[in-house]
Amino acid sequence: MSLYAELHRHLGGSVVPRVLWRYFERNRPDLSGQFADYPAFEQFYTRPRNTLAEYLELHTLVESVQTYEALPYFIYRLIRGAYIFENLAYLELRYTPYLRTPEHLTQNQRIEAMAEIVEIVGRASQQPEYPIVTKQILCMHSRLPHEVNQAIVELAGQYPEYVCAVDVAGGDAKYGDRIDEFTQLYQRAQDLGLKTTGHLYETVDGDHPKLLPYLMRIGHGIQIPLRHPELLPEVAARGQCLEVCPTTYLKTGTLEEISQLKVVFDRCFEAGVDIAICTDNAGLHNVRLPFEYENLLTHDVIGFEELQACQEAAFRHAFAWPHSQPPTTLLTDMLQVSPHNHSINNGISQEVLMPS
Ligand SMILES: [Zn+2]
Repeated sequence: MSLYAELHRHLGGSVVPRVLWRYFERNRPDLSGQFADYPAFEQFYTRPRNTLAEYLELHTLVESVQTYEALPYFIYRLIRGAYIFENLAYLELRYTPYLRTPEHLTQNQRIEAMAEIVEIVGRASQQPEYPIVTKQILCMHSRLPHEVNQAIVELAGQYPEYVCAVDVAGGDAKYGDRIDEFTQLYQRAQDLGLKTTGHLYETVDGDHPKLLPYLMRIGHGIQIPLRHPELLPEVAARGQCLEVCPTTYLKTGTLEEISQLKVVFDRCFEAGVDIAICTDNAGLHNVRLPFEYENLLTHDVIGFEELQACQEAAFRHAFAWPHSQPPTTLLTDMLQVSPHNHSINNGISQEVLMPS
């Protein structure tokens, strides 16, 4: 049985259109009223955009309603859906806590308010009825000032029970002359014992080789095998894993068709670079993680062997998976009924269980 680890999912893009629509209808009729009906909203919400920047604008719509009060509502539905429909055993959920604090507060007040957001997300993610191992990744943001990003890293270090890593998001074209600033922040994160990932080499504007050595995983990174394969040996030597999110590149105009990813997978496998397949924004795309895998398979981008290699890589590179093996190995042992395995039968005799 396949269970999945999701390493790259944004809280803002994780709300499926139906859940967001219901929330708007109940709580924000001013927003739902802008659309004739649900299909019109879904069409608007999930349609492809021309650029990454345009695509990221949609996040601001969801961020604006993910307030203190509403976060548990969205997270409960996210975890429930991930457990029931996606077979997730592990989930790293990422977001920028500053962007969930009330906008009318001053910058310092908003920085102060971030801790409560981390706690709310942490508590809401732990649901005994849907036992997924979850951790948060806090995202620095290319549009936020240095003091805020610095506070995000410090905050991440203060919550080891909830937070495993830091990321930088906001569009990889916008880091510009702030690369040194971000390398320092990543250095600080490592000193605090945090893991690191970052949105890099996603688009043709995202080549930032100076940042690369600070990352344990690379958010997207597809431009490395596509346009800078000469970097693959050093990526392999550092044991860095690419978080590849296939649907994103079609929604942001980065790629025209999914078959273009074949060279990404081929070159990475050849160079010994691991790939974890992820959704990025499963809600916004209306595409769940198992379908991302299946889609790559049906378009001949990967075969079953590669698919399984990517599934295992995801657990191996998970920042906080608490077991030494992926769940598939653990489950297989439990599910296989053999005459030597009495412990799982709860006292029912082998004659009943074994076909005669
Ligand atoms: Zn992302």
